Amino acid sequence: MAAPLGLTPADLQHILDRIGAEMASAPDRGRVADYIPELARISDQHFAMAICTADGQCLTTGAADQPFSIQSISKVFTLALALGRFGDQLFARVGREPSGLAFNSVVQLESEQGIPRNPFINAGALVVTDAILQGHQPREVLGEILRFVREAAGEDDIHINKSVAASEAAHGHRNLALAHFMAAQGNLKNPPELTCGTYFHQCAIEMTTRQLALAGRFLMGAPGAARLVSPARLRRINALMLTCGHYDGSGEFAYRVGLPGKSGVGGGILAIAPGRASIAVWSPGLNAQGNSQLGTLAIERLARATGWSVFG
Ligand code: GLU
Repeated sequence: MAAPLGLTPADLQHILDRIGAEMASAPDRGRVADYIPELARISDQHFAMAICTADGQCLTTGAADQPFSIQSISKVFTLALALGRFGDQLFARVGREPSGLAFNSVVQLESEQGIPRNPFINAGALVVTDAILQGHQPREVLGEILRFVREAAGEDDIHINKSVAASEAAHGHRNLALAHFMAAQGNLKNPPELTCGTYFHQCAIEMTTRQLALAGRFLMGAPGAARLVSPARLRRINALMLTCGHYDGSGEFAYRVGLPGKSGVGGGILAIAPGRASIAVWSPGLNAQGNSQLGTLAIERLARATGWSVFG
């Protein structure tokens, strides 16, 4: 397992604290998501960052023990589960190309006959959830997702916030529209309400920034990772995170940060330095593409200070 480029834990802590201090006084914090009313109540002042290195260190700065809504970061865990169950057959129903459009876009789905571009835009994630739901009750599937996340993190205190799920369901017209359209095209196997309901609950998983970095360790190929996902599949999940993990901001994130990452509208980002570190950041204000404004900046700073990049 690669050492973190000669950086000691003290070096990393120093880098983290410096980034935390810079973010505390950042003038432009982005805008907190308000299309899910429960998320709109969260202050844009929060900031936390956590790094778990391949050699077992876990370092944090800021409010790293405060739970937040991971939202679309959950799509990484459901994709891992679905690939484990269906392998590459999953890609008969969902593509592997960046969308270049907003995370909840309807227009592309119609022109591409109900096959979503990738598993990380909302339509694609609905297909993934629909696949793991088939033949099961939502309760069972949500239990399985939670078990996966808890095992990956090595912590049990990770839960679904039912108020956030209900809030999204009450305002979930776009996701229901995407699901109904895919049902009309024969690319949804369960009733749209059931698939969406399960999806809203998976998005409402709450965990702390520290727990998210812990849960991401399998993606860097940490010892024991193969228990959850095979090494070949890890590379593919990382490839999708790099190309599609930030919606129509994926190219910008790859350019600025150089690491695979997945964002969520709760303001979290999980980024992976393969063989080196799992990185989580949380700052609720979003940029125009729905990705954490300061979270992106913080990971950009971290990548520059550590030299971590998938591009050498
Ligand atoms: N639950 C959110 C939605 O479907 C997830 C979007 C995101 O985190 O990017 O709109």
